[in-house]
Amino acid sequence: MTKENDYEYMRRTLERLAAEGNLRRIPRLTHDGRHVTAEGRRMLNLSSNDYLGLAADTDLRSEFLGTLTPETFIPSSSSSRLLTGNFPVHDELEAELARLYGREAALVTGCGYHANTGILPAVADADTLVLADKLVHASLIDGLKLGTARYLRYRHNDLNHLERMLHEYAPTRKRTLIVTESIFSMDGDEAPLGQLAALKRRYPGTLLYVDEAHAFGLRGKRGLGCAEEQGVIPDIDFLVGTFGKAAASEGAFVVCGRTARELLVNRMRPFIFTTALPPVSVAWTLFVLRRLVRMERRRKRLATLSDRVHQALHAREVPDLSSSHIIPILVGESSEAVLKAGALQRHGFYVLPVRPPTVPVGTSRLRLSLRADLTDEETASLIKHLQDL
Ligand SMILES: *Cc1c(COP(=O)(O)O)cnc(C)c1O
Repeated sequence: MTKENDYEYMRRTLERLAAEGNLRRIPRLTHDGRHVTAEGRRMLNLSSNDYLGLAADTDLRSEFLGTLTPETFIPSSSSSRLLTGNFPVHDELEAELARLYGREAALVTGCGYHANTGILPAVADADTLVLADKLVHASLIDGLKLGTARYLRYRHNDLNHLERMLHEYAPTRKRTLIVTESIFSMDGDEAPLGQLAALKRRYPGTLLYVDEAHAFGLRGKRGLGCAEEQGVIPDIDFLVGTFGKAAASEGAFVVCGRTARELLVNRMRPFIFTTALPPVSVAWTLFVLRRLVRMERRRKRLATLSDRVHQALHAREVPDLSSSHIIPILVGESSEAVLKAGALQRHGFYVLPVRPPTVPVGTSRLRLSLRADLTDEETASLIKHLQDL
């Protein structure tokens, strides 16, 4: 076998990505609250997941800092939860989550990527059939790839397709696990959780896994997510939420039954083989969570702003399929998406193009992440520039 220059194949990959308009670079940014500055231009940040503006809220941070002393500011857990990394604050956060959701147990993990890549291989064994929505997040796909379960994808939000698969394939396995997001991260539309719960009841031996990363903090009276909003929390066997988005922190959680939690503690590799979240970070999460449940005003404000932008987009030719604060503006070609994002940036809105492999080829888009702290004037200006695109 003739060898080639060691790095030649890497260079070729990068050149191909560049030719397709899909080469990614880490943006150099500075942050001040809701704004970012990139290449000398200060812009409103519509690309973060700080949907309620809590990460930009310096009053909230000051209040939290006031609770800390050098004794309670513990920046590292120094070990896995299973060794010496478990601090009282980890247990306290899990107890609070279980109480809020009215479920037996909760388990906190390092991040949502760890949750999804860890829980799925731990619970979906070779006797399990997994049926996952076609558009689920990369972390869920990676979790399925890491495991031993057979998995199939049903057409996005198509419950007829899902039921046909349940009918046809479920009898070949001891159990079936249905996997979906609640608000989909790239399309901003929602899974019909009530119908999924009904389907689960009709097919005994079916478990339901719902990733609420983009709904936690935002939906339902207390912000617990779409499952709270739709009254189906008890039907969900694994309800995953993340703290890195609306909750302005880091980490993730799953609420589940006591037995499921014990299995995860014993089998979930990204829980076992990683350093536990720093106690100071968990304390901040708990501090935010206790306030988050009462932030109905901010949730309403985000819903109002989202409605305004959706209404303005209804006039466009390209259909707006989103029903949330995540608003994709479908463009098609990656290069075109890059140009249109640049145009919005010149008008002071930091909007980024989303390209393959994050979304399917030919569906490159701009992705707006609305935030509750936008003013009426800023929203009106955004709408005007969107209409001019
Ligand atoms: C962001 C996201 C994750 C990953 O969560 P992190 O805490 O950022 O690792 C998982 N699932 C979905 C749907 C997400 O959008």
